[in-house]
Parts: sequence; C-alpha cells; structure tokens
Amino acid sequence: GAQTFSRCLASLPAWPGHVWALGRVAFTDEKPSAGLTEEQKEFQKVAFDFAAKEMAPHMAEWDEKEIFPVETLRKAAQLGFGGIYVKPDVGGSGLSRLDTSIIFEALSTGCTSTTAYISIHNMCAWMIDTFGSEEQRHKFCPSLCSMEKLASYCLTEPGSGSDAASLLTSARRKGDAYVLNGSKAFISGGGDTDVYVVMCRTGGPGPKGISCLVLEKGTPGLSFGKKERKVGWNSQPTRAVIFEDCAVPVANRLGAEGQGFGIAMKGLNGGRINIASCSLGAAHASVLLAQEHLTVRKQFGEPLASNQYLQFRLAEMATRLVAARLMVRNAAQALQEGREDAVALCSMAKLFATDECFAICNQALQMHGGYGYLKDYAVQQFLRDIRVHQILEGTNEVMRMIVARSLLQE
Ligand SMILES: Cc1cc2nc3c(=O)[nH]c(=O)nc-3n(C[C@H](O)[C@H](O)[C@H](O)COP(=O)(O)OP(=O)(O)OC[C@H]3O[C@@H](n4cnc5c(N)ncnc54)[C@H](O)[C@@H]3O)c2cc1C
Repeated sequence: GAQTFSRCLASLPAWPGHVWALGRVAFTDEKPSAGLTEEQKEFQKVAFDFAAKEMAPHMAEWDEKEIFPVETLRKAAQLGFGGIYVKPDVGGSGLSRLDTSIIFEALSTGCTSTTAYISIHNMCAWMIDTFGSEEQRHKFCPSLCSMEKLASYCLTEPGSGSDAASLLTSARRKGDAYVLNGSKAFISGGGDTDVYVVMCRTGGPGPKGISCLVLEKGTPGLSFGKKERKVGWNSQPTRAVIFEDCAVPVANRLGAEGQGFGIAMKGLNGGRINIASCSLGAAHASVLLAQEHLTVRKQFGEPLASNQYLQFRLAEMATRLVAARLMVRNAAQALQEGREDAVALCSMAKLFATDECFAICNQALQMHGGYGYLKDYAVQQFLRDIRVHQILEGTNEVMRMIVARSLLQE
C-alpha cells in the first residue's frame, strides 16, 4: 500500500537532478491498498516492488532511446503478469478483473508506457483463452503468458478508427485458409510482436461481417510500416501492419465467422479498465512527486507546501484520484460478475479516469513550475504517456456514445 509504495520510491535511484518523491505521510486513507484483501495487498506489493526496481530506474531511458524492454516484460511474466486474467491450465494467473486493475495500477507507477503494452498483451491472451478452441488455447496461451511470445491487437485501420465496424481488411476463404488483404494502423507492438489478433471482413458490411483471426509473425505477405514517432508511449513501438495475400489457416479463426466484432469489443471492455488503471498509477506517482516538490521547493521565504492555494489543489488532486480509482474498481467488479451494466460502467470508468488522471498529472506538472517541463523530472513523462489513454481503446468521445446508448436504448 502507501507505505510499500513509499519504500519503493525511497529505494529508487535519484533521477538526474532530481530526487524521487520520498513518499511522505499524505497518503493515508487514500492509499491504493485501502479495502483490499490480504492476497490483493500481497500481489499489489509485488507489482509496486517490480515497478520500483525493474522499471522506474529505466523509464526515462526507455522513453528517450525508444527501447522496447522485452527482457523486463519477460521478468514481469515470471511474476504472473503476462496472462493475469487467463486461466491457469494454459499458464495464466487466473486472477479477477479487479486484481488485474490493482496490478496494472501499481506497475504503471514504474513506467506507464511499458505497463500499457503489457495490458494490451494481456487483453489479446485473454481473447484467445476465452474465445479460442482447446487446441488454440493450448497452442498460443502458454507462450503468451510467459511473454516468450508477444501479442498485438489489430482493429484500427487508416480509414476506420472510431467507426471500427467499417473496417475493410478482407479475408477470403480459399480451401482451408483465409487470404488476407488490407492494412491496420497504429498497432501497439507491431513489427516487434509475434502474434497478431486481427479483426477482418469475411462477410458483408457492418459488424456482423467481421471475423477474428490469429496471425503469426513470419507468415508470407505480412509486413509492417515504419515505426511511428510519438508524444509518449515510447517504450513500445507502434506500426502499421500490412497484409498482402497473406494466407491464414482457418484453424486460426477465433469463434465463428461473423463473431469477430463481438470478440473485439469484449476484449476492449477489460482493455478499458486496464488502460484506465495505467492512468491511475501515473496520476498516483505524479501526486507523490508534486507533494515532494511542494515540500522541498521554497519561494517567498517558505516551502510551497505552506501555501494554502497549493495545498487545496493538492487535496483536489488526491480527491479526484480516489474518485477515479473507485470508478475503475467498481467497473472491474461489474465486469467480473458479468453484470448487465458492465459495458457502460467500463466506458464510464475509462472516460472518467483517463480524463481525471491526465488533469492530475497536468496539475502536478504545473506545481513543479519550470522544472516540470524538463525531462530531468519524471512528471512530464507520466503526462506524455497517459495523454493517449484519452484517445485509444475507443476515444473518450466514443465512451460517451456507449454510455449514452446504454441510457437511451432498450
Ligand atoms: C499510440 C497509439 C496506439 C494505438 N494502439 C492500437 C492498437 O494496438 N490496436 C488498434 O487496433 N488500434 C490502436 N490505436 C488506434 C486507436 O484506437 C485510434 O486512434 C482511435 O480509436 C481513434 O481512431 P482515429 O485515430 O481514426 O480517430 P477518428 O476516429 O478519426 O476520430 C477523430 C476525432 O473525432 C472524434 N469522433 C469521431 N467520431 C465521432 C462521433 N461520432 N462523435 C463525436 N466525436 C467523434 C474522435 O473521438 C476523435 O476525437 C492506437 C492509437 C495510438 C495513438
């Protein structure tokens, strides 16, 4: 919990020109371990420790040099973080959606971008575990859970973003294979990953014409665009994925023909909780950094922390963080229970938490003054890394569409 996190942060090497927040006492009732079971507190501690020891010391370098830390990912997988909500018989950890959220929130304090990739990988592994046949599960899941192989989720296309059901990548059946043509845009991990979960059109227009195929790297006709240059998320590559007469065995189809869009959306329900959890971790770390800075920095003859305006802003940040965390954990629980309102709650949580956490990081940066704008200070990286959470896995405008639909339909 908070003390663990404080210890973790205290054990971090200093950033150049900056000492990490030493975790003063401010997080008491708001601590992220409040209300958790003993078991949850234990793996939360494991995740905080991993974040502090294996990720935080490298996060600036991974960002600066655009390093995809595959060995670190595999170390995380050794702790069970490669298939957190995948069933144990194929190597998964068999934990709940709430457990998963707790883990991603903690990991994200060490490197948000790297954790976000782990979350996408987990989503793909879950899709294969849940919608795959026994044969497919046993073929793909064990090496994904160990992160010996890495996965990418391929839905977005150059011409189809928010309107994902209009996708054009075609898969024509030819004997016992599908021949794939088209391209995917913005694929996280693309080019560096081994397993591509691809939504493609096997039937007519609209969502019912879409199927889901699993493609392996090395398939003839599969190629990649240049590595995109991004504002954040620099510890993971993003590339276009291109299919030119790419033959995929029919045996690699998840579910039946026409079920692909449903599978893609079910993946994203959990994905949205995961990405929102990554925002929580970034915001938590940023609040601690701001707290520390206000205490250390003196202006007008006293520490900034003595200024009531700044105290109130800090209090608001902590309040918004706790509200966002409750939203995310509540949605995770609803999804776990298969509740009818789970889809709307996941969308609300993603919308609320990614917006609020971005605002928290931005305020934390503001509290650092000019130093907040320097790359020597971690707060700017958290801000850059979580900005995209308002855009992907359905933009926050699309989240509003989903919530509105749940209110006005049926
Ligand atoms: C770094 C990064 C990684 C990504 N990783 C993946 C990945 O791994 N796999 C994958 O499949 N995709 C991925 N994406 C793609 C991402 O999901 C899309 O960018 C996103 O869904 C938005 O689509 P778009 O970019 O085409 O924007 P558009 O759909 O063109 O939207 C542009 C703007 O218009 C708004 N808008 C659109 N329609 C409406 C409407 N009806 N009402 C109100 N507002 C609307 C949008 O909200 C947005 O603000 C990634 C994107 C980024 C930037």
